[in-house]
Amino acid sequence: MKTKRKVIMAKEVGFCFGVKRAINLTRQALAEKQEVFILGDLVHNKRVTDELEGKGLRKVDEYEGEKGGTMIIRAHGLPKAKIQEAHARGIEIVDATCPIVLRAQEAAQTLEQDGYQVVIIGDHNHAEIKGICGALQQPALVIDNIEELYEAKAQYKLMRKIGVIFQTTHALELCNKIVNEMLMMCKEIRIINTICRPVQNRQDDAIQLAQKVDMMIVVGSRTSANTMELAALCRHYNPKTVHVQSAEELLPEIFVDSAVIGLASGLSTPEDLVEAVKVKLLTWDAEAIPVLNAV
Ligand code: SF4
Repeated sequence: MKTKRKVIMAKEVGFCFGVKRAINLTRQALAEKQEVFILGDLVHNKRVTDELEGKGLRKVDEYEGEKGGTMIIRAHGLPKAKIQEAHARGIEIVDATCPIVLRAQEAAQTLEQDGYQVVIIGDHNHAEIKGICGALQQPALVIDNIEELYEAKAQYKLMRKIGVIFQTTHALELCNKIVNEMLMMCKEIRIINTICRPVQNRQDDAIQLAQKVDMMIVVGSRTSANTMELAALCRHYNPKTVHVQSAEELLPEIFVDSAVIGLASGLSTPEDLVEAVKVKLLTWDAEAIPVLNAV
């Protein structure tokens, strides 16, 4: 039976404004300056980083022998000590820190100045969290899940007066669960919601989409935290969720019996990669991939 498969795209796909801004600033720096380098990857997308490295961007993990030149600070930001070290080495800085990440750093500083123990709900190893911690005078407590919260409590690391912020790309649902537990452990809690609105909008939209389609496909790099989180959220609402990095990873057998497919993407996924997945889904030989509920 020849049938038609339907693909519903999430309302927003492709780069968020913070990633677009960082890429544009980097392209501009590469066009105008010599010796442009970056600590880590600008975005978690190999195609984009390959393009920029092809234009001369040099990726380093640490300063090591760096002296002079121009350094791009990526959208996740950089700890203050690293920025000071760059100045000391005579390095010119192009600051592509996303304004929303800067606001999260400022929120943490405000809480610290107001006498709260700063607690960040997020991933210890994420560059954004390192940047926020590096903006503070005192060490912050970073909590990524309920178990870590219990552990911090058992080890007397959690004070009675805490100021909480969130990793900008974290899912609100997870943050809510942790904050609810904190309410029972602390005497005073002040919360500044630092979750990025574009991230939250995409998550809300993807959750709704996942519930009305036969299967969900999330496109984006497996090194991108927000893409991994988006895929996990979609899987929670629709177990038939597949995470692919590009159209080449699509396998026909995973679409058997799926007439309506939802398509969402991480914030560092180029829009044309998502379009390519859509085109492949729509042009695949329908007879080779049976559809039960044809639309
Ligand atoms: S996800 Fe949000 S915080 Fe992160 S770069 Fe994009 S706009 Fe900025």
